[in-house]
Amino acid sequence: MDKSGKKILLAAPRGYCAGVDRAVETVERALEKYGAPIYVRKQIVHNRYVVETLEEKGVIFVDETDEVPENAHVVFSAHGVSPAVREGARSLSLSTLDATCPLVTKVHNEVKRFAKQGYQILLIGHEGHEEVEGTAGEAPEVTYLVDGLEGADTVPEEFADKKLIWLSQTTLSVDETVDIVRRLKERFPNLENPPSEDICYATQNRQVAVKKIAPQCELMIVVGSQNSSNSRRLVEVALQAGAKDAHLVDFARQIDESWLDGVSTVGLSSGASVPEILVNQVIEFLAQRGFEDVEEVTTAEETISFALPRDIRPPRVKK
Ligand code: SF4
Repeated sequence: MDKSGKKILLAAPRGYCAGVDRAVETVERALEKYGAPIYVRKQIVHNRYVVETLEEKGVIFVDETDEVPENAHVVFSAHGVSPAVREGARSLSLSTLDATCPLVTKVHNEVKRFAKQGYQILLIGHEGHEEVEGTAGEAPEVTYLVDGLEGADTVPEEFADKKLIWLSQTTLSVDETVDIVRRLKERFPNLENPPSEDICYATQNRQVAVKKIAPQCELMIVVGSQNSSNSRRLVEVALQAGAKDAHLVDFARQIDESWLDGVSTVGLSSGASVPEILVNQVIEFLAQRGFEDVEEVTTAEETISFALPRDIRPPRVKK
């Protein structure tokens, strides 16, 4: 530590996950291959900087596919879409590229499989989140959304004698989900567990890293956008794990100088949709205020990557 005693504990892993990397590259390659404009339904990933940067390159973000001109190219975001949205795009003769994260697709496939097997599905997730809308849309007639512990308390009694299974959004708080499942099982002993975890590796790893450093931090800064579920969870996890204060910022300029009053150790992490340049800007901002000592604390190595959608995959070079 330098003589000022001020330091940054930098959580690792942080930032881009494999699904976000694939989604952003899908749009960039689509721009190269087909030229601007490329349309994207919803934000490709929940990050303001990424969205604004792509807009500058000629991407047009729309809320629904009926805003896209006929025969144009449209990309479905990393959060996934329901079958109804796919069908809508087909009926408009749009040329689609699917940037849905394969780990979201896995949950879609589980919904389809369990619906076919006659289950009622309790889907733990946040109401209104695009991922949840897409996932529930695979079998809306048998899927019931459980949002938080309060949601667990208001699931109708009629599920007590049904074939019942829970699934979840990929970007939840691991600990909160355990609590929700416990509460649900108290009410519904018939509730079955999914065959594997739905909360994705990236969400879990970022939470573990934040938990590790939080007890030593008077302040935790998480870089991420307000609509990013996994980024918001990192702020909650930091506070629960002992950070005295925690804030979510899109950019370094949003850091309020008063947050640093009396602080000697700042924790720093970023959500799964956040490019490293934004973290570096926070490090520079803090260095200018005496936090020149940076220690990275690594709790996992990530090596996962996902293949790009077939239409824009680079040709394989034969040896
Ligand atoms: S946060 Fe997880 S589910 Fe979401 S895009 Fe990244 S890897 Fe996929």
